[in-house]
Amino acid sequence: MNEEGGQTLTRILKLNQQFRDRMAVDDLPVKRVAEKVAIVTCIDPRINLEALGILGFSPNGAGNSNVRVIRTIGGIAEERSLIIGLFLAGFKEIVVLMHTDCGCSLAHSKVDTIATNMKRMLSDQQLEALRLQWGDLSDTQMRSLLRTFEDPREAVKKEVQRIGALPYFPQDDATVHGLLYHVETAQVELVVDGYQTVRS
Ligand SMILES: [Zn+2]
Repeated sequence: MNEEGGQTLTRILKLNQQFRDRMAVDDLPVKRVAEKVAIVTCIDPRINLEALGILGFSPNGAGNSNVRVIRTIGGIAEERSLIIGLFLAGFKEIVVLMHTDCGCSLAHSKVDTIATNMKRMLSDQQLEALRLQWGDLSDTQMRSLLRTFEDPREAVKKEVQRIGALPYFPQDDATVHGLLYHVETAQVELVVDGYQTVRS
């Protein structure tokens, strides 16, 4: 375990207490609100969702957005969120928002570093278990498993196409769009307009 762990938790709990001392409990967004739009985006903290109108919380704790935000490395959706979102939470429009300078592109060019670090930091027993599950940790295999990509604009197109073609995607009830966020300018570029996509 790393030794900063205790400090991190102490800091989080202290900040939470400070927040609760200043917030207004009546303003907290307690009620679950249906919202048909969901955003799938990267974990990268440089993506400012306020740049596309998804506002954060007010200082007193009031909620300013009902949009569901699914964050994963690279902004590639995982099945659990899509299925629960589409068939319980009521997603009608899914917006894939990837971005420039993504860590997934860095990972694409550095899969060998990832494999080397895994071999260094994991036990022989863990590595053997991984090989049984994943095969060898070759560059090709790693890129495929981690779904890394070179060009984020192409990755947006591919991901929108992939979601729309999933066997459980409700073609008549939901739409997928694709956007690219430029971290250098906060511009949101339209890559795929789901309303224009011809469905086969
Ligand atoms: Zn990213």
